[in-house]
Amino acid sequence: MTDFPINYKIVETSIDELLKFFKKSTIRGYCKNCPNFQKVWSCPPYDFSEEEYISNYKFAYIIGAKLNYSDIKEYVDKLTSSGMDNIHISTDIYYKLRKIVDRNMFSMENFFSDSKILLGGKCNLCNECAREKNNPCVHQDKLRYSLESLGFEVSSITEEILKDKIIFTGDSLPPYCLSIYALFSKEKLSTKELEMQLTSSVH
Ligand code: SF4
Repeated sequence: MTDFPINYKIVETSIDELLKFFKKSTIRGYCKNCPNFQKVWSCPPYDFSEEEYISNYKFAYIIGAKLNYSDIKEYVDKLTSSGMDNIHISTDIYYKLRKIVDRNMFSMENFFSDSKILLGGKCNLCNECAREKNNPCVHQDKLRYSLESLGFEVSSITEEILKDKIIFTGDSLPPYCLSIYALFSKEKLSTKELEMQLTSSVH
């Protein structure tokens, strides 16, 4: 089985600082063009105020989870030689990363009381979200949002806070897959301890 070595970078900021990247109407415009809009409970529109949700917390820990393609070369080569195109290869790797990191993020949230995680994209717990058929979420306790779904501009957060860059797939494969997560907290936490919790979870 291929090992997927994820590298984490965690940067502490305050919710006040993070709100500089809150561009709800612009981001909501992008969401409206996404097939998940109104189809997944973790995606907008919501029946609550995003501003109120965010204002429950004081600190934000921005977490970049990165998987270098050079570290999984054999796996990438296997997908390439199967005839898969670049978009499908990147998508496959993104979901492999999401599966590992989502699980680690939930364990981390359990460890820190008064905190809430934000995932690196939509909720993937069910094959088809119950919202497709207008039914309530089947795992309310595990329903988590993402920075972009709440209205934050993630590309700027990545560049200005994490000092990294999301690279999209084009004619060639990108050098890495980078997914942006966060942990909102009412209390100041230690980034060292956050990293320990993230990396000590079982992969
Ligand atoms: S847990 Fe299932 S029903 Fe709930 S938001 Fe996620 S995919 Fe949808």
